[in-house]
Amino acid sequence: MYGERMSESVLSEEFEDRVAAVQARIGQACSASGRSIDEVTLVAVSKKNGPDRIEAAVQAGLTLFGENKVQEARAKIPLSPSQARWHLIGHLQTNKVKYAVRLFEAIHSVDSEKLLDAIDQGAAAAGVTLDVFLEVNVSGEPSKFGLPPDAVLPVLESATQKMSVNVVGLMTMPPFTEDPELARPHFARLRTLRDECREQSGFPLNELSMGMSHDLEVAISEGATYVRVGTDLFGARQK
Ligand SMILES: *Cc1c(COP(=O)(O)O)cnc(C)c1O
Repeated sequence: MYGERMSESVLSEEFEDRVAAVQARIGQACSASGRSIDEVTLVAVSKKNGPDRIEAAVQAGLTLFGENKVQEARAKIPLSPSQARWHLIGHLQTNKVKYAVRLFEAIHSVDSEKLLDAIDQGAAAAGVTLDVFLEVNVSGEPSKFGLPPDAVLPVLESATQKMSVNVVGLMTMPPFTEDPELARPHFARLRTLRDECREQSGFPLNELSMGMSHDLEVAISEGATYVRVGTDLFGARQK
């Protein structure tokens, strides 16, 4: 499942170079749009990478990791360094919420009121509070998870009653295109939707989770505060 093991020192050097390259890209994108680098948090997307590679990534200075499957995270997190912190970025089924609330500090992929409700109840039962992002299907692609844009405000209104979740912002995944500039309108739409919802709901919604390996610069120029980067840190994943 996790690919070949490599010696630790080789892994660390490899990661140090990749982490430095991604951080330099984030820094350049921030300065190009007059933003402070402190405004953008890197989520290292470690799906399909095992605990040895998480360990090397921690040694290279990464601390925040993103996983897209609860089952994979349940196996991996107990074997990974305790400094690592974890965000869930993939679709969550309600029957896995009880595990997710104990493994993750934040969930980027909340796509229904029912799921938000289940997370609130699960977090309360576990005695924790989670940060959550509402995932929005900005492009309207039928194959994608995410709330339609006009469903975001009603979910936010329901969230005012929930004590164990903090809705911190919005997340989106634009359709994949070779040219990252084609993602720009989707990122811009998420930001304007955030601005409208902030105005109408009173939630600050400070966070925008958008941008991946190939389009993080475009996302940062449109206001991303979390970029989720897998391939450019860990290499190409096995299919
Ligand atoms: C895999 C994944 C990423 C990372 O994608 P890369 O192109 O490898 O950087 C980001 N967000 C989500 C939701 C993912 O599933």
